[in-house]
Amino acid sequence: MSIFSPSEVSRGLTVPMSCTLEYMHCPFCHNADTKVLDSRADEDGVAIRRRRECMRCHRRFTTMESCELTVVKRDGHTERFDRNKVIVGVGKACQSRPITQDQLKELGRKVEEELRASGQAQIPSAEVGKVILKPLRDLDLVAYMRFASVYRDFKDLSDFEAAIEELRQYEKDKNTTLTAGADTATADASDPAAAGKETGKELGKEAA
Ligand SMILES: [Zn+2]
Repeated sequence: MSIFSPSEVSRGLTVPMSCTLEYMHCPFCHNADTKVLDSRADEDGVAIRRRRECMRCHRRFTTMESCELTVVKRDGHTERFDRNKVIVGVGKACQSRPITQDQLKELGRKVEEELRASGQAQIPSAEVGKVILKPLRDLDLVAYMRFASVYRDFKDLSDFEAAIEELRQYEKDKNTTLTAGADTATADASDPAAAGKETGKELGKEAA
């Protein structure tokens, strides 16, 4: 997502108003007049990386822009959302489970993405826990149960039983959806044999 190409900059075209209005000091000479050369989303998609040039010293630098996400604790106290806290918290529930650090990082990324997509700047901590549960369920059912028992404050065995029943239903629904998808794909395809093979491959991938 480039606002204008570097060649346009070198030809000295006027900087769009939206860029000149952004107030960002040059880190070298502290001049407030900087222009944006290029804007792109960072790899996580949660921040915008902007390449800027100072209009006084002409040195270039990069800024990262993202909305500050705040978590509201149960006691009303607020703190900045920290993806690493999610990763550490979920990591505790994943102890001795076959889950890699990369999978945990990916879960943290998904959670932050979903929270940001909600469009809220302030998010109750209970909401963060709720958003964690879904990707964790797909990752590891035992870790999910451990995390849910703390987050949902399980009191006794009946709470565990209810959660296990939910999980059984979820697994059943998931399998039904996969099977239904396979039937449709085969019926619609002009070459049923080839389509069946293709679908089988996809199913194997999802199950892995
Ligand atoms: Zn400067």
